Amino acid sequence: MLNIVEIDHLTVKYPDVKALDDVSFTVKKGDFLGIIGPNGAGKSTLFASMLGLNTKYQGTIKFFGEDIKKSKDYLKEIGYVPQKPIFEKNFPATVNDVVRMGLRKESDENKIDEILQQLWIHESSKRRIGELSGGQQQRVFIAKALVNNPKILILDEPVTGIDQQSIDLFYSILRELNSKQKITIIWSSHDLDAVNQLANHVACLNRTLFFHGESDEFFDNDELVKQYSEASMQEHMHRH
Ligand code: ADP
Repeated sequence: MLNIVEIDHLTVKYPDVKALDDVSFTVKKGDFLGIIGPNGAGKSTLFASMLGLNTKYQGTIKFFGEDIKKSKDYLKEIGYVPQKPIFEKNFPATVNDVVRMGLRKESDENKIDEILQQLWIHESSKRRIGELSGGQQQRVFIAKALVNNPKILILDEPVTGIDQQSIDLFYSILRELNSKQKITIIWSSHDLDAVNQLANHVACLNRTLFFHGESDEFFDNDELVKQYSEASMQEHMHRH
């Protein structure tokens, strides 16, 4: 099966810290990859590099078989959901406006309604984004990321500070996008249990890649999970 993403010997050095150290892995079409790692593990740096926002890295990143340094065309196939942005209550944009910002061609306007319905946010389409709960805002940002029919959805720690009911809905939406619409998902999370339930592949990041493979292979191996949890806890304490 086609490798949609190939990360090969990726190293990112900031002046004070090596955020990623020789990280290599691949993502195949249709995969649901959970990237787990403690704060400071390099998850955001990895995403910034994959999205072409950080170009100062060693190694190569390929999407659809092509080096991302050669062409930015691959970005059209990616929907990106950043960590939850915070909006002022009076921020002057409606839900509809925010999703429209993601739209590449105005001719696809009716796609906005379709996607808002699919994400259970349609009834709020004329409300200001800042009036919505965290969970609803999150779904608006997923809608914005999906409005151009991307092949890949990349989500950066999206459930922080969101109530449990919204988290459950969010997880069922992700599951459906992957299983029914065959969207390849790359999702970073702190929540090992959620990754275990949703993702079929896992990458455990702690600056280096501790493990990459099928979820069952990781989660069925208690010793591996324990080793990873201890290593990331030590790293975490070391940093704080
Ligand atoms: P995560 O998303 O897993 O929390 P990050 O990629 O944000 O990890 O951070 C990895 C390490 O790189 C941290 O030690 C962080 O302080 C450092 N870092 C992240 N971004 C920058 C930057 N732009 N400049 C310098 N250091 C950075």
